[in-house]
Amino acid sequence: MLKKVIVVIVSLAVLYKILTLIAPPIVDRHLNGIVDQPPYEVSEEAQEIYDNLPFIADLHCDALLWKRPMEKDLNRAHVDVPKMHQAHVDLQVFTVVSKSPKNLNFDENDDRTDDLTLLNFVQGRPLRAWFNLKYRVGSQSKKLHQLEHKSDLKFKIVKNKSDLKSIIESNKDSFHVAGGLFGLEGAHPLKGQLKNIEYMYNKGVRMVGLVHFFDNELGGSAHGVVKGGLTEFGKQCVREFEKRNMIIDLAHASPQLVEEVTAIATKPLVVSHTGVKGTCDRGRNLSDEQIMAVAATGGLIGIGFFEETMCGLEPKLIAEGIKYVIDLVGYEFVALGSDYDGSVEVPFNITGLPIIVDELLHLGLTEPMIRRVMGENVRDFMLKNLPD
Ligand SMILES: [Zn+2]
Repeated sequence: MLKKVIVVIVSLAVLYKILTLIAPPIVDRHLNGIVDQPPYEVSEEAQEIYDNLPFIADLHCDALLWKRPMEKDLNRAHVDVPKMHQAHVDLQVFTVVSKSPKNLNFDENDDRTDDLTLLNFVQGRPLRAWFNLKYRVGSQSKKLHQLEHKSDLKFKIVKNKSDLKSIIESNKDSFHVAGGLFGLEGAHPLKGQLKNIEYMYNKGVRMVGLVHFFDNELGGSAHGVVKGGLTEFGKQCVREFEKRNMIIDLAHASPQLVEEVTAIATKPLVVSHTGVKGTCDRGRNLSDEQIMAVAATGGLIGIGFFEETMCGLEPKLIAEGIKYVIDLVGYEFVALGSDYDGSVEVPFNITGLPIIVDELLHLGLTEPMIRRVMGENVRDFMLKNLPD
């Protein structure tokens, strides 16, 4: 009898091990599609402008969610360190997706289910990662720090102004270091407790998306059930984040939440990956009024590269979203916010960023404007708003 039990347990363990080896790349490739594979071709003019960009940055990706060696150039990855080097990307924001309801949709989700339990099981992550949101933040922070240690100075985590300054200095004449800023996509791992902000800060979190796909303890999501405004706890969190110079991100926020946070914020706000209703009228995208309210804080709007933000997948749609913001409030307030590796299909991976320069040229943007959009705005924002 005992022998049989042991055989069953060992067989299950072997099967599980095989599952964790085979399934993750399949799931990853299935969820993170790319319309066109590299190499990417652009005009000579666009390539020349791209090669001379002083700083290149993107405000949002979810690459940490997947079981991948990010120090390797993997075909299926939208972002990894070798690709950041190839594309000379000085700064990429890496966020933690810590909970994802089943049957995820853009209209209405509650918080009762979580697909990440299954994903973490399939990826062979430790038992705690199957259920514990705070642990998920800790383990993804660890992954980013390990990447930095293994990278042989090719990748550096940016936690303060001087980290960023050192990257700017290193990449002044030729590209040497890709930077990563750590953030949360949804502040539900705080579990409604202010004291957990300290934990997040110590794990390196410097940008905090208040909500993701469901209403949480802080406020309403554009894809939630109630889609309400800022809760009392949310207000306290906003004050605490500002005190610590943690940047507040309103991506996925309900309209009421955007309104209430822009009204009380005393520091510049970010909407890291979004579209604009002026070019793509979808629930999560920003209205003209919201764009103006975010810009009025001295904020930044990152334009996403995926269907829900662009209403299509043609690269020119990204450029049109960018131009719309420029025409409305000025070129100082817009940036790239790809959502690479965020369970979305994108037109090109990060090595295709020169395509955006080409599309911006087609729309008549000048080189100084293009430099701002492609990274200078993010650089200056971070130099001003990160902790000292
Ligand atoms: Zn998102």
